Parts: sequence; C-alpha cells; structure tokens
Amino acid sequence: MTCKGICSRYKAQKPVGTGRYASGQRRCQICEIFINWEGLWCPCCGYRLRTKPRNLKYKAKLRARVEADAASLKAQTVEAPLVAAGTGAEAGASSDFVKTTLETAVSEGWTKTKTIEELRKSEERITIKKARELTKDAFDAKNAPVETPVKVAASSSDFVKTTLETAVSEGWTKTKTVEELRKSEERITIKKARDLVKEAFEAKSEPIAIKA
Ligand SMILES: [Zn+2]
Ligand SMILES: [Zn+2]
Repeated sequence: MTCKGICSRYKAQKPVGTGRYASGQRRCQICEIFINWEGLWCPCCGYRLRTKPRNLKYKAKLRARVEADAASLKAQTVEAPLVAAGTGAEAGASSDFVKTTLETAVSEGWTKTKTIEELRKSEERITIKKARELTKDAFDAKNAPVETPVKVAASSSDFVKTTLETAVSEGWTKTKTVEELRKSEERITIKKARDLVKEAFEAKSEPIAIKA
C-alpha cells in the first residue's frame, strides 16, 4: 500500500471553526492526508480511512468525558438509594447520637427523664414524644433479655429460694427478707425483692389460713 498521488485530488481544506473529522473529512495514514471522501477506503492507496481522531489530546479529552460520565452515572446510582430511602438516611445519621446516648443511659442506669433530656440535646431536634419512645424502647429492650434467659432465672432461684425458705421458716420480717434477697449477686431490684417476699409470705400464710 503506497500513495499513488491520487489522493491530492480529494485533499480537504482545514475547516474554520470545527474539526476536520467533525466536518466529515477522512484521513489516510498512508498518504498522510485529509480527504473529502465518502468511502471507507482510501481511493489512492486503498488503506482503511480514519473517521475519528486518534491524537493524544483528543484521547485525553475523550477519556475525561467518559470518566466524567461514569462518575456522574456512579453518583446517580449512589444517590438513587439515598433518595429512595428518604428519611431513612436521616434516621441512619441520627441513630449514631441516639444509639450512643441510649446505650450510655442503659449501661449507666440513667433515669428515663435524664435520658430523654440528653436525647433532646441532639442537633436533630428530636421531639419529646420521639425521645420518650426511644427511651422506652431502649429501657424495655434492656429489661427484656434480663428477664427472658431461663438460665439466669434458674440460678437466681437457688439463692432466692433458699433465702425465702429460711425467711419463712425462721420468721424473718419482710424488710429483712427483702434486704437479704438484695444481697444476691444478681442485683434483684427492690421491687422484685418485695414481690418475691410478698409471694413467699402469702404462700406460707395460705396453708395456715386453710388449716384454721
Ligand atoms: Zn495518496
Ligand atoms: Zn491513501
């Protein structure tokens, strides 16, 4: 494939205000010439004509545009679920503060009132209603697992059972029994202790009542 000099007949002038390729010119790499030619092959040497530029500057531009497109496409993809999630995204951000506050409240044994106050210090302006709900949920969630495990209940009952039996058989006062129960390593609440004592003392008094 060599230039036969025919191409010069089709030689294209450099267009003003636009690119050669943009204006439909084609380039033969063998003849090293831009020509006005509709066909895919050089009418001179028969080599395949270029219809698109290949210089580095253009390539860089093209790559930049492709990357920009890809980035914007990616941004759209990333944005889409956020938009779809809507308030969910806000809730996610808020939960960091809320979560930390609630965890601290539960672990440090804050009162609900204090917890609600702390929650309302959040920058997200949590309503008092919302704060109360969150606090309630957190406190309920904390209480739930303590009550549910059978293992804890079983191990607790050994100490509790013995203490209550002793109390009943030795005729302890309820106050003393409650005090003894609260010496348990399981940190029985005073309310729980009182309930247990009440039950134990009532259970004891029942058969007596029946006997009498
Ligand atoms: Zn040629
Ligand atoms: Zn050619």
